Parts: sequence; C-alpha cells; structure tokens
Amino acid sequence: MIVGIDLGTTNSAVAYWDAGEARLVPNSLGQLVTPSAVSIDDDGELLVGLPARERQPTHPDRTATAFKRYMGTSRKLKLGRKEYAPEDLSALVLASLKRDAEVHLGGPVTGAVITVPAYFNDKQRRATRRAGELAGLKVERLINEPTAAALAFGIHQRAVEEPFLVFDLGGGTFDVSLVEMFEGIIEVRASAGDNRLGGEDFNRVLIDFAREKLAGVLPETHEGEALYEVMRDAAERARRALSEADEAPYRFVWDGREHRIAVTADAFAERAEPLIERLREPVLRSLRDGSTKVGELSEIVLVGGATRMPIVRKAVTRMFGRFPDTTVHPDHAVALGAAVQAGLKRRDADLDEVRLTDVCPFTLGVGISERDARGGRRDGIFSPIIERNTVIPASRVQRYFTMIDNQETIRLEVYQGEARHVVDNVWLGQLDIPVPRKPAGEVGVDCRFTYDTSGLLEVDVSVPETEISQQLLIYDRDDAALAANLDARREALAALKVHPRDQAANAALLARANRCYEGYLGETRDYVGSLLSHFESVLANQDPREIESARTEIARRLDEIEGEQFL
Ligand code: ADP
Ligand code: MG
Repeated sequence: MIVGIDLGTTNSAVAYWDAGEARLVPNSLGQLVTPSAVSIDDDGELLVGLPARERQPTHPDRTATAFKRYMGTSRKLKLGRKEYAPEDLSALVLASLKRDAEVHLGGPVTGAVITVPAYFNDKQRRATRRAGELAGLKVERLINEPTAAALAFGIHQRAVEEPFLVFDLGGGTFDVSLVEMFEGIIEVRASAGDNRLGGEDFNRVLIDFAREKLAGVLPETHEGEALYEVMRDAAERARRALSEADEAPYRFVWDGREHRIAVTADAFAERAEPLIERLREPVLRSLRDGSTKVGELSEIVLVGGATRMPIVRKAVTRMFGRFPDTTVHPDHAVALGAAVQAGLKRRDADLDEVRLTDVCPFTLGVGISERDARGGRRDGIFSPIIERNTVIPASRVQRYFTMIDNQETIRLEVYQGEARHVVDNVWLGQLDIPVPRKPAGEVGVDCRFTYDTSGLLEVDVSVPETEISQQLLIYDRDDAALAANLDARREALAALKVHPRDQAANAALLARANRCYEGYLGETRDYVGSLLSHFESVLANQDPREIESARTEIARRLDEIEGEQFL
C-alpha cells in the first residue's frame, strides 16, 4: 500500500486512496492529525505526536518540535542527552504515521507520497526524501503542498481550466500558490510566501499583549525560555478559543502565582493587524508572477490550521472580494491530496488522466559585468537564466560576450537566488572557457542551463566560433555523504525504544495532567494531583477496561478545568 503524507511543521497527517476516494487514517488516539513533536520520557522511551507535544511546556529540554524549519541544514536538535538531525526527527514522525496506517489498514505500508512546501529547495527536498527512507518508506514522490491541496479540492475534476489560489497559513509559515490544470497536467504556476509568518506569530501578539497588561506584575528580567513556553501555551489556548468566541481568558502560572487577563476578539484583531497586513504582499506577488488577475481565479482555497482564525478569513474575503472555498477541512487538505496522488501512482482508473509538474523554486543564473553609460564597469551583477516558477524540467540558453580586447577566457559563475548582486545569492559553481582573442564584444558564448525534476543543474557552455564546449554538473557533496550512510542511520533509529503504541493514550493523558498540575495553583492543583494519583494507581492494576474508563473520566474533568483539548 502507498499512502499520502502531509509532513507539517506543526502537524502531520496520513491518508490513503480507497474506492475512488481519499481517506484519512486515525492515529492511536483516534485523531486524524498528529502533532509533529518528539519527546523522550523518563524511561528513555520515545513519544511521538500529542503525548510529546503535551510534554513541551513541562519538559522543553526533552522535546523537539518545528524541526521541519531546519530540514536540509546541518543544525542538530537536542533531545535529552542526545542530538538528532532534523531529518531523523522527521523520520520518527513518519515512522509513527506509517505504523498508524498499517494498524488501520491491516497490512504493510511500503511507500509514500510526501508533501513539501513549493519553495523547498533541492537540499530540503532531499532531506525529506531521506527522512522517508529512514522511516522505512519508499518515497514514491515528493509533491508540492499546494498541488496536493488543489487535488483535495478537486482541481482535476473541474471542467474549466482556471487556476486555484491556495492560501496556506500554518504554524510558522505562509504560502500562497497558483495551481493550474491544463490539458491534464497540473502545475504550480507561481508560488510566494513568508516563511516567518504563521500561527506562532499570532501567539506572540497575545504574549506581548499579556506582558503589557501584566507590566510590573511579571518579573521584567524573566525573559527565560521557560516563561516563554508557559505564556506561549496559554496564548495558543486563548487564540483557539477566540476562533469560537468574542472573548477568552488568557491565564498561566508563573513563579507560584496565577496570572489572568481577558482578551476580546476586537483587541486581538487590532493587535494582529500588522500580521494581517503581511498576508497581502505574497498574494499580490503570486498573482503577478503567474500573470493572473483575481477575477480569473477559479477558486480560493484555505489550507492550514491558522486559517481557522476569523480575522484571517475576513481578511481573505476582503482581499479577493469573495468567499473562499472551505469544503475540505483546512487541516486535512494536504494529506488528502497526497493520497489522491498516491492513487494516481497506482494508476487508479478514476484518475487516469492527471499528471503533475513541478516548478523551479528559485532563480538560477550567472554573474556578469556590465558597462554603464559612462563606460565604467560594474561587476557581480546577476543575470537570470532559469527564473523562479519556471516549470521543470527546463532548459534555457543565454549568450554572453567578452568585455575586454583580446580576452582569453570567459569565466561563468553560477548562482541561485533573486538578488541583483550575486554576493547576495548562493554560489553554486564556476567554469572557465577559452575564447579566441578578438576585440571586446566580438566573441560570444552560449550558456545553457538544464534543470531536471530531481534538482540536478547541468550547465553547458559553448563557443560557437570554435565549437569548444564545456560542461558543469551541479549537485551537492554533503548530500552524497548523508545518503551514503543511510542504512546505518536507519538501524540506529529503529533501535530506539519507542513507547508502546497501545499506551499512547495513557501517555498523552499523563503528560496533559502533569502540565495542568504545573499550570494551576491551590485547590485546582490539589484536585489535578488527586486525579493523577488515582490514574497512576489504576495504571498499576493493569486492567485495560478500568484504565480506559478512568482515562475517559479524567479527560472529561481536565476538559472542565481548562476547556477541551485542542486538535
Ligand atoms: P503546519 O502546516 O505548520 O504543520 P497546521 O496547518 O497544522 O500547521 O497549522 C497549525 C497552526 O494552526 C497552529 O499555529 C495552530 O495554532 C493553528 N490553529 C489550529 N486550529 C486553530 C483554531 N481553531 N483557531 C486558531 N488557530 C488554529
Ligand atoms: Mg501545512
């Protein structure tokens, strides 16, 4: 079986294709979305998903989240005493989703279609592919998240070929993409975004608000991570409550004191205005890059948990002058679309006609020198050859000329990026090619860039006059090293002790009750403490039925205290 996986920064989900329909897989807690969180418990066992996220406020040193941000970098994240690469942590989440799917489907899951942000560069894509392989999955294909979302909203079943605008506001990133289907081919025509804008930033707005209201009460000097973690958790709760109500409490305990303020939806909206304003620019840029007018959009689809905020929905409606399509749950769309693609892989009859393409997420070009009007020379100017959002595979050629009389060689330095000066872009490689000695500007070289779907850039430079040509292949060396020891790393990860799957609900409840214990004072705290003691003694008795009924009862009582568990 091949599944579709949305490997998100905050949350992940897995789905499969069955009888002409994409369906989500519930995890061991019965939930359709699994937090992308990993934690090590006191016995050194690994927790993944909700139990891990519940431990974040109480055990920040033993819990890792948001590691997707660092995919494709050499940054390591600490979990207890050990350090892990972001792709290892992603692999642990993927392995947990794989297991959930196997239990649900009653058979082995061998392969997966995994989604990545449209702007992910090649390094990040390769890291994602390795994460899949480390989890024991054959990665059938990586597809862009907006493409998956558009598939979930049925772009492939539309009669009219007008683009979808996918508006995805997640936990930490904002992505806007134009996805289009033309003669059976689906393509991302343009994508833009802000990778520092998401639900977390809206949390920060509430944290700042609370700090202001509590100025003089909260220790000013306490900028520590622990306080931030506690205030962030409170903000997340208040913000979700504000998606449903006009007013919500913001409360937390710090240094043995309970702090409580009330936040109104209006106050939040006013404070969040600068963030709402930042949603506009990427939308305009994607429309510009895709040469599309708002009126030509077939659908505006909302994806990502943070689009559940009423202020975001209002802003979208205002921006486009119409209501977005919300027929698919914003938390589920990407995984469901990945499952549609997994169905395509299986050549399911219902989906026979559809093919996907990718676009180049950044511009590729060379550094050149220019003469200005006064005859002065400017070096290090970027000359784009394959522009961002070009559909790949792509091949483009550009001619460059000598600048000095009797010049003997032309040096081509290859860069990736969007800046006008090459120093601000990423250097990829260089090549020197001999040219016949002639007056400046009389000899030209043709520089051809060929970029394939797996991210390999081939540079062919030829001098038409001499028929000399040279080639440069650009790939990543660190990457080759990482790929080489994949088997050993897979074994190391597989050897980690994982908390038993059938105990996940107990672990999640324990983590939650402990968080509440630390998060309340006085009578409430004593009460939570007694619930915890009771649950621990029930667990010790090992009677599954008794455990289950105690769990349900305690969860209900915690819901009464802090509101229903989110997800
Ligand atoms: P990612 O793509 O980063 O994994 P998601 O699409 O799962 O993220 O979105 C996570 C974000 O959605 C979080 O910041 C969370 O606070 C926010 N979110 C989820 N549900 C709600 C809600 N009901 N109201 C407001 N924000 C929500
Ligand atoms: Mg997402």
